[in-house]
Amino acid sequence: MIFKIINTLKVAFNCFWETHFKTHLILLEIEPTNFCNVNCVACPNDQLKRKKGYMDLDLFKKIVDETAPYTLEYALDMMGEPTLHKDLIAMIKHVKLKGGKVALYTNLNFEDLDLSEQLVDIKTDRLIVNILETDTIPYQKTIRNGNFDIVLNNLHKIKKIIFC
Ligand code: SF4
Repeated sequence: MIFKIINTLKVAFNCFWETHFKTHLILLEIEPTNFCNVNCVACPNDQLKRKKGYMDLDLFKKIVDETAPYTLEYALDMMGEPTLHKDLIAMIKHVKLKGGKVALYTNLNFEDLDLSEQLVDIKTDRLIVNILETDTIPYQKTIRNGNFDIVLNNLHKIKKIIFC
């Protein structure tokens, strides 16, 4: 923890007092997959030239192990839908085991009945939901292949698990 505090202070000094301390990343964005189950109108995902795939769990753990002494938060996002990764829960658990916080970016278009419960159970620190619209018709136009009802159901379920 002491390394995290010192590193964060150095980052703050560099930002506000223009010092030049050597620092480590305090926030690390990791892309568990660049596959996505929807097609948002403004997203360049379908124009990606690089190969599509899923990050290997061991590689993910290696990255976390090497950065955990300094990194405060791991954002699971980028050009894909993290909940499609079969090892997502194991990834989040590993970050928590190493003392990091997790921000999960998701479109919440999953029908896995247990996933919402698991995400709450393992204490995912932040869940950032990409909804973009607040009604079915515009939602379907903006998030093509998305299902507004599934998103709402998952949101209700998560709220119920947290507050009931
Ligand atoms: S959910 Fe995210 S990755 Fe998927 S199409 Fe929309 S913006 Fe792109």
